[in-house]
Amino acid sequence: MTSITLHPNRDFSVLRRHPWIFSGAVSRVDGVPEPGESVQVVSADGTPLGTGAFSSESQIRVRMWSFDPAVAVDDAFVSDRIARAVGARAAFLGDGATNAFRLVNAEADGVPGLIADRYGDWIVCQFTTVGAERWKDVIVAALQRYFPCRGIYERSDVEARAHEGLPQTSGVLAGEPPPERIEIVENGCRYQVDVRAGHKTGFYLDQRDNRERIKRYANGCDVLNAFSYTGGFGIAAVAAGAASVTHVDLSAEALALARSNTALNTCHVEESSFIQGNVFEVLRTFRDQGRSFDLVVLDPPKFAESKGSLMKASRGYKDINLLGIKLLRPGGVLATFSCSGLMTPELFHKVVADAAVDAKRDIQVITRLQQAEDHPEGLCFPEGLYLKGFLCRAW
Ligand code: SAH
Repeated sequence: MTSITLHPNRDFSVLRRHPWIFSGAVSRVDGVPEPGESVQVVSADGTPLGTGAFSSESQIRVRMWSFDPAVAVDDAFVSDRIARAVGARAAFLGDGATNAFRLVNAEADGVPGLIADRYGDWIVCQFTTVGAERWKDVIVAALQRYFPCRGIYERSDVEARAHEGLPQTSGVLAGEPPPERIEIVENGCRYQVDVRAGHKTGFYLDQRDNRERIKRYANGCDVLNAFSYTGGFGIAAVAAGAASVTHVDLSAEALALARSNTALNTCHVEESSFIQGNVFEVLRTFRDQGRSFDLVVLDPPKFAESKGSLMKASRGYKDINLLGIKLLRPGGVLATFSCSGLMTPELFHKVVADAAVDAKRDIQVITRLQQAEDHPEGLCFPEGLYLKGFLCRAW
């Protein structure tokens, strides 16, 4: 096996079981490994540290498969990683109230570069690295074996692939093609999911627990569901007895699905409004009109794409949080999120607190929120915690 040797004192993160080795830590590559090939990682003094997948294009030169130098990365190893991840989701199986959840969550499940999400009878996969791409056939066979389904569909149409020198691609990997819309059930609510063209693999599964969480604050409320996508939080709120919900999103397709999802749940469509527009502008208009709500959900897309854009992103988060807080009636509840991995929990806390100061409101944190439990984070891989939120009450 090809080996890569690290610079002196650059083995600390591998020794801390962090799965990424950046190009700057590598002093020597013996041989010319193919994209995604398994390489042995060795410290400057020659100590073997484990095995990882090599990527010549990415700044993340190696993603670790195993920190045990004695372990061979072969078909059986990769299949076992899939079996392990799928088996750990047993808690979701046999739960008739939810049939859509993440089966494999990349690094946290020991399979860097692989996302596999279950939507009813289908699995939708995303391969974001050459390491995962190299084992695609083995991974697909293992998914079929350990989670029998009608079909496996690929949604590797993500920009991240470019960093790995991989083209974007999507299509059927095994079995039957998925229907135009897959109907899923999540905590008793029904949603239609467009796994071919929807965001991510089709649905924001990472918000499942938080959609459930807000239900107990929704009864009788007027709800603002900002960045609604296909209805998620708002439909959960109406199912829990909300008096009205106002969905706001830029995407006409997402709102069309939000509308049909509302009907699907026999929620009263007349109590729901669907506003296509920019949340920054729509919330300002609501403020100027003197509108107010009992429950405001702010679930924006990733504002920070790079370290350089973090300041600008912070201003964006502060702006919408300030507007959202101003729209809350006294005693109203705010569920506010950031899914930018670069925005640390501490920084997000500061941004929301700054908004509260500017809004001149007393705000209590009811609880902190994060990605759902089928999206675990590696304990030694803090980058895995990307979705952070607060459930707050504003007086
Ligand atoms: N809360 C949703 C997921 C939201 S994803 C759920 O539970 O499913 C973020 C959404 O924000 C996307 O649907 C995207 O179309 C929308 N979006 C992005 N920028 C926006 C903007 N400036 N104004 C309104 N919507 C925006």
